[in-house]
Amino acid sequence: MLMGFGPHSSELLTIELVPESSWGDNLRSRLKKADWDILRRAQYKAAGYHCEICGGKGRRHPVEGHEVWDYNDQTYTQTLTRLIALCPACHLVKHFGFACLQGRELQALDHLMRVNKWTKAQADVHIEAAFELHAKRSLHRWTLDLTWLATQGIAIPEDPDGFSLV
Ligand SMILES: [Zn+2]
Repeated sequence: MLMGFGPHSSELLTIELVPESSWGDNLRSRLKKADWDILRRAQYKAAGYHCEICGGKGRRHPVEGHEVWDYNDQTYTQTLTRLIALCPACHLVKHFGFACLQGRELQALDHLMRVNKWTKAQADVHIEAAFELHAKRSLHRWTLDLTWLATQGIAIPEDPDGFSLV
């Protein structure tokens, strides 16, 4: 791993690019709005309405719900492990590819450097590694494992595209 930190470190802000087969397929689009609201609001409250990475909050809405996935590069299974509350700035960094598409790359870069106390060179290494990993993972079709939802009392939604759900 980069500079000695693992993918599950909670202290550092990291970019997480979702494989292309999973684009547009997220909890928000799969869950009934009421269920998504229950999940995210419970997490906002548990986090004290502050970002779980940087401790900050946004101006219009303090925090947003971000899905945390674990990627198994042997079975190409993308497992939902939890939801975390992130300020909009950290959330934008998580979806760095989206930030680039929106022309907000510099804003995301600035926040990434500030939260991790990184130089531009350190941030660039991380960004490059994130895009390389994304390219590698996007060569495969990923299966989503949403069993975490059941532990939260939420029914696991049907897969709209008919891919197997674990
Ligand atoms: Zn934050």
